[in-house]
This record gives sequence, C-alpha cells and structure tokens, in this order.
Amino acid sequence: MYHGTPNDDPVSKYSIRANLFNDHLQYLKKNNWNTILFKELNNLSKYPEKTVVLTFDDGYADNFESAFLPLVKHNMKATWFITTDSIGKHAHWMGTPTLQTQMLTAEQIINMKNAGMEIGSHTCSHPDLTKLNYQQQKNEMIRSKKILESLISCKISSFAYPYGRQNNDSIRAVKYSDYQLACTVNPGDFNSEKNPLLVKRITIFATDSAATMARKLAFADNDVGWKKMTGYYYQRVKDKLAGKL
Ligand SMILES: [Zn+2]
Repeated sequence: MYHGTPNDDPVSKYSIRANLFNDHLQYLKKNNWNTILFKELNNLSKYPEKTVVLTFDDGYADNFESAFLPLVKHNMKATWFITTDSIGKHAHWMGTPTLQTQMLTAEQIINMKNAGMEIGSHTCSHPDLTKLNYQQQKNEMIRSKKILESLISCKISSFAYPYGRQNNDSIRAVKYSDYQLACTVNPGDFNSEKNPLLVKRITIFATDSAATMARKLAFADNDVGWKKMTGYYYQRVKDKLAGKL
C-alpha cells in the first residue's frame, strides 16, 4: 500500500519520495516480481509465485508523474483506490491544502485506466466507516462506484476501506454494493485471509528503502526491524542445528 509519491520530502509518513519509490520499482523489476491488478487476485492460480499487487490509496496527483508513468515504462501494473469527492481537488482530510494534497484529475484517471491500470473505490468522502450506520456506509460505497463507472466506462469491482477501518456493517455493505474484493491495512499475504472482503496489505512508509520493502515483501509484514529479523535468523539457526532445515 502506497499513498503519495512527491518529489520533495513527504509531509505524511504514508507517502514516499518519488526517487525512493523509483528504487522500489527497480528492485521489483530486477528481481523478477510480476505485478498484477488487485481484481486479478480472483484468479491467482495462473500467476507466478513472485506476484505482487501495488496499490495506491486516495489518488494523489503526484502519482501520475512519479508512479503511473514509471510503471508504464517498466511494463508494470497497479491499482488506484480513488476518493471520488476529491477528484481534481485536495485531500480535505489531510488538513491544509498543499501541493502534496492535490489529487488526480478525472482526465488523468481516464488515462491511467486506458493504459491498463485498475481503478477501485475508496468511498466518496474518505470517512471512518465505523462511525457511519449501515445505510450511510452503503451510500458511500454505491455512489463512489457509480461515479467511477461512469467516468471510466468500466465496472468497478475493488474497494479499499479508508484508514483500513471497517466493521460488520462495512463488510455487509461492500458485499451489497457488488464489490468482489476489498482490502484492509492488516499486514499479511493474500492467502493468509480467506475473506475476499478483508484482503491484507503491507504498508509502505516514507522511510522504507528498497531493502526494507524487499524484507516486508518476503515476510509479508510491516514489522521488519532488527529485533524481529534477529529473532527470525536465530530460529533458522536453531532449526538448522535441530536438523529441521
Ligand atoms: Zn485513504
């Protein structure tokens, strides 16, 4: 899960500098990682084991130059979860408008879809869904889906819960709204969650180097600090000595 990809130091810890994001892409390319769209997780068996889904939440304008164009250049794909009320405007939930809160325009989103990227919904207004009732949650999901479908003339089947927050009503509502897959921010790989409406994701932070991202991918976890890694290698050595490996 990526967010903004600004040229300057990111204001949000969830966004990443464009040059660092480019290092991530180079790593994935060099190490033969296959990229697929989020919606393609429905037919996982036909993809190689080293397959990753790159997702971008909210729809930041800097993604166009710093993520979308480089992805096209490398022949890679990604999925964008768009917050429809803020198309061509600012991410109002991020505070004072700056260059980094500027969002993709309708025209850019159409271009991205036409180049083979997937567009998914991230609601209309980016609410904490757990603070809304069932009907209000459904409205956010159905209205954003309709807006995006009429914009890109294509069925929208993927959804991402804002802030990764959801309750039982959200899962019912997302099913009722006819989404096939929805993702959270709980860390883990695709096979570690059986419910297709609670797909797990790894969070990428502003400080994540390509090496950190690679460890996050390998362990399907957000926590790849030295403590955890030391524990992992210690266990490997123990298993080796015990003849388990
Ligand atoms: Zn978001």
